[in-house]
Amino acid sequence: MKKIAILKGDGIGPEIIDCAIEVMDKIQEVSKVDFEYSYGKIGGDAIDNFGDPYPKETEAICKSANAVLLGAVGGEKWDNIESEKRPEKGLLRLRKSLGVFANLRPCKIYDSLKDNSPLKPEYIKDVDILIVRELMGGIYFGNRGTVVEKGLKTAFDEERYNEEEIERIARYAFEMSLLRKQKVTLVDKANVMDSSKLWREVVKKVAEGYKEVALDFMYVDNAAMQLVRNPAYFDCILTNNIFGDILSDEASQISGSIGLLPSASLGEKMGLYEPIHGSAPDIAGKNLANPLATILSCALMLRYSFKMDYEAKIIERAVEDVLEEGFRTFDLDSKNYLGTREITREVVKRIK
Ligand code: ATP
Ligand code: MG
Repeated sequence: MKKIAILKGDGIGPEIIDCAIEVMDKIQEVSKVDFEYSYGKIGGDAIDNFGDPYPKETEAICKSANAVLLGAVGGEKWDNIESEKRPEKGLLRLRKSLGVFANLRPCKIYDSLKDNSPLKPEYIKDVDILIVRELMGGIYFGNRGTVVEKGLKTAFDEERYNEEEIERIARYAFEMSLLRKQKVTLVDKANVMDSSKLWREVVKKVAEGYKEVALDFMYVDNAAMQLVRNPAYFDCILTNNIFGDILSDEASQISGSIGLLPSASLGEKMGLYEPIHGSAPDIAGKNLANPLATILSCALMLRYSFKMDYEAKIIERAVEDVLEEGFRTFDLDSKNYLGTREITREVVKRIK
């Protein structure tokens, strides 16, 4: 029995998660596995019901599951709530409480969607990138403060990593690269930052255990440039929390739509899967949302949490086929498109 905690959240969250469940149900049917779903509330939905964006009831549901599938959180209704209680805070607490330190964001360009990319066709040939971002350390969690120095208001944020934190995320990147093109690019700012120098030192050591993987290094400013100039250069990008945040948004844009990209956040035991986009309140409840990012997040769940690579590929191929055959959602083609539910039905049909 594979236990999945399902957190639909706000905005388009419930509709896209319902689509993902249809796909998972079809996988159960064709592969004879048993998924057991349990449902929890998160974000604004949890605030309305429990007065807390990540209530202990939800935490208990997640912790008793093998994996968590999440829609999205947030919306105008909760915009005026004080910062500690906002829907987005629930998401940070969820990630922290599950101990998910490795954020994986694959970015690939479907042949059939080349025209949706802002990059020229010759730049996006063969693009298939996996960003491996450290998620539980660095500047997001270091000391910060605002002080007065020499009469001037002065603020600081500290970037801090220890060897262990770097080693565990580096191992993840190397393991992932073994399933891909066996290439890891460490993106850092080692010409300026001591923390980056430590990353290089530790990553080089980890690399000794992976002789078949080619390792190289790139400064983050150059990486930002190469992502739009020569994205096919990259296979696995390994990087810290803040550089990963910025580069993964940049990378997401070259694929053409935010509605297509899934993510996995992994820890020692737990996996959290969610689309990279937000709750899109502007299109919520209109059957316009693209459910494919969430459906592809299910594929990542099967691959990483349940070691069901074969079934993961079935989902990915079904999505690819649907796009290949010309079906589009509103975000991909606002003139000629299928609704959220209808495109899901096309995906489900192709799962055999
Ligand atoms: P967050 O802060 O939660 O990341 P955001 O304000 O950055 O949210 P999104 O909710 O991701 O933004 O929405 C940005 C834009 O992309 C919106 O116009 C939204 O309608 C569109 N969008 C996001 N996700 C989808 C989707 N799955 N399908 C279609 N359009 C989407
Ligand atoms: Mg956003």
